[in-house]
Amino acid sequence: MFTSDLLNHLFCPQCLVALQNNPSHLTCPNCQTKYTHSAKSVVFYSFESANNPQPSDSLLVSLKNKFKHQSSLYHFFYYLLGALFVGQSAKQALADLGEDKLIINLGSGPKRLRPDIINLDFLPLPNVDIIADINHLPFASTTVDAIVAELVLEHVPNPQATLAEIKRVLKPGGLLYLVAPFIENFHSSPGDYTRWTKSGLRALLVDFEEKEIGIRCGPASAFAVVAQEFFALLLSFSWRPLQQFWSLIFLFIFSPLKLFDLLLSHFPGAENIALAFYYLGKKK
Ligand SMILES: [Zn+2]
Repeated sequence: MFTSDLLNHLFCPQCLVALQNNPSHLTCPNCQTKYTHSAKSVVFYSFESANNPQPSDSLLVSLKNKFKHQSSLYHFFYYLLGALFVGQSAKQALADLGEDKLIINLGSGPKRLRPDIINLDFLPLPNVDIIADINHLPFASTTVDAIVAELVLEHVPNPQATLAEIKRVLKPGGLLYLVAPFIENFHSSPGDYTRWTKSGLRALLVDFEEKEIGIRCGPASAFAVVAQEFFALLLSFSWRPLQQFWSLIFLFIFSPLKLFDLLLSHFPGAENIALAFYYLGKKK
């Protein structure tokens, strides 16, 4: 949550020096950049074309991106029509960390995990406390107790650079809770670049000490998404508006299938076609 105390802990993301706190802005004593803040958020970054959906997005992804600005509609799509979550959640993973700890949710969107967790996103959405570039975090090195990044890394062109920045700000022994997709349809926000197998995720996070890794969204969620896109494509007769229409119809038809994940996620071999994995580790 945004507090006036938070402002005193922020650093210039370019120069990595402490910022001077003024009534409406923070000033970098090194590069003289002014970062504006209100009672609700502080702005380090602006991304103008963020709301332009990419041509290959489904209608649903475009709607979801639009609804991010209205948290109730967003949550409706996120939970009712999105994937079914199994395995350990970010909230459970961080349950032992008290309110005195500095926890940042990177690429949070409008979702608030816990009142004391700081939300950071590159868009000025509801509930976002810090609007910043994920690759240039406005925190001093080794000052953050835990980082959450759920379904975020696929949206950055260079996930290694983002992980290096996460590692920079985390304290030694600091926690990282990550969710990364494996079998998921294309969904821009604003880009969509990468997918990971479980072993791929382990290789990516080789610099962290693994505490837990597992399925976060299972094979039924993956199948529902692929079936929805496949049948919409098949019945589109190469006409984009018809594909968008069918995509919405098939979403409602196939969405209930994801309930099978409550069972299937525990089967051996479920990892072969899981929608997403979670990873909990600590900085070595
Ligand atoms: Zn600066």
